[in-house]
Amino acid sequence: MRIEAKPLKGKEKQKLERTFGKTIQINRKVYRIVYCEALLGDSQSIAGLCDSQDTTLYVVDGSDIQETLLHEIIHAEIAESGIRQSPGWTRDIEEMVAENISQGISHSYRLKLK
Ligand SMILES: [Zn+2]
Repeated sequence: MRIEAKPLKGKEKQKLERTFGKTIQINRKVYRIVYCEALLGDSQSIAGLCDSQDTTLYVVDGSDIQETLLHEIIHAEIAESGIRQSPGWTRDIEEMVAENISQGISHSYRLKLK
């Protein structure tokens, strides 16, 4: 996927980094979190993206950041855990899992930095 990210700067960026963090550890890797003004994946506007090759999570300010970040964290966990290599696992299944679990959790809990 071709990614075009317009990262946030200044106070807005700092505020989000204070609230949700700059990095997150996923299994043994450290993922960078990039808060964006805008994000295009293959020329389409998207709310978030997990780039597991580059260990980076992108989230767009203005979306429900907690839910979007959780959604991308789930993609990263799936990538790093090896679940993607399971027989029968598909991109569609992964999307359903990420969407349902991120919605379910973010409606019941508040993410807190460790
Ligand atoms: Zn997704």
